[in-house]
Amino acid sequence: MIGMSEKTHLTALTPDELAEFVQNIGEPKYRAKQIFKGLHARRLQSFEEMTDLPKSFREKLNETATASTLKVESRYVSVDGTRRFLMKTHDDLPVEAVFIPTENRDTICFSSQSGCPLKCDFCLTAKLGLLRNLTAGEIVEQIIIVLNDVYGVGNETPHGTNLVGMGAGEPFLNFDNLIKALGIMSDAEGLFIVPNRVTISTAGIVPKIYEFARLEKRPHLAISLSAPNDELRDKLMPINKRWNIEELFAAAQEFQKSLRRGERFTFEYVLLGGVNDTEEHARKLAELLNRYGLERVKINLIAHNSAEPLEYRPSDARQIARFKEVLESKGVSAYLRTPRGRDIYAACGQLAAKSEPNLIQIGKQKSEKVKM
Ligand code: SF4
Repeated sequence: MIGMSEKTHLTALTPDELAEFVQNIGEPKYRAKQIFKGLHARRLQSFEEMTDLPKSFREKLNETATASTLKVESRYVSVDGTRRFLMKTHDDLPVEAVFIPTENRDTICFSSQSGCPLKCDFCLTAKLGLLRNLTAGEIVEQIIIVLNDVYGVGNETPHGTNLVGMGAGEPFLNFDNLIKALGIMSDAEGLFIVPNRVTISTAGIVPKIYEFARLEKRPHLAISLSAPNDELRDKLMPINKRWNIEELFAAAQEFQKSLRRGERFTFEYVLLGGVNDTEEHARKLAELLNRYGLERVKINLIAHNSAEPLEYRPSDARQIARFKEVLESKGVSAYLRTPRGRDIYAACGQLAAKSEPNLIQIGKQKSEKVKM
């Protein structure tokens, strides 16, 4: 019997690759279209459900391929409607995705890696280290699993889905698989989530920012900054020692040139109480943006989400308001991001990927935790 890892994961294939695959197993090319639709538009996760395919073909597919590799281990539902999914890959590594509903749109935050190699000091995921890059199929599957859980298998979603690549991992360290997955998801015959609905967040992998800027069908970009000077950023986000603020801002300048009409890009700034949230920090940040001529950027302020064993505390509301005011007084657009799913450890920087007892308890106390 062929093991899971030797079977071809069809969710990872583009329509052309799928056509090649079906021809290689001696089937007509048009079958590829049926399979692509089954996987991505109907969001089916097994070949048995693809009843428009002959039974003998479905059996052949089962022998050589797989439609699904991720297994949902637990699912936590927050009091605010946010859902956090803890999944496992076929080789037993954690993957997390978060569903964030708002009135007019759904947002799914997906992971690009299992764990993360970067060591951002305020992030719980960093404690896991890098386990491995996720495949394109594993990235796509997260979205299929979440949509099926919320709306039922194959059911139409009431409004569009936005994606944010802000879950576990650094997306730009898994660039090729990420871009491939986004290409598959944008197909009008499938999930049809176009790049304009997608935002990718990087901690500052500078060469990839240039590469991203050159993509023909480019999603939006967010850069996680969190400090206005090298000394502090070196400590909070050690990737800064590899590419410092000067190099990062030069890349941001270049990216700004690729913006379409009306488009802006984002710097994310996690506010850590007493660490990077003073008026002086806000002034320095505004100065930096002005010095590099980054007028088409907006700042997303994110109040830090406490997560043991991290020692940081969130900034208090007055301090956050003052920080925002200072930025605005210098002509910088700043927005305060409302934290979602804090009670189920689904908020930014909280994805620890483990069903630790304390996480489960938190899920139980205030919210629903469903063991799958
Ligand atoms: S904040 Fe993002 S890039 Fe930094 S360690 Fe956490 S997951 Fe990795």
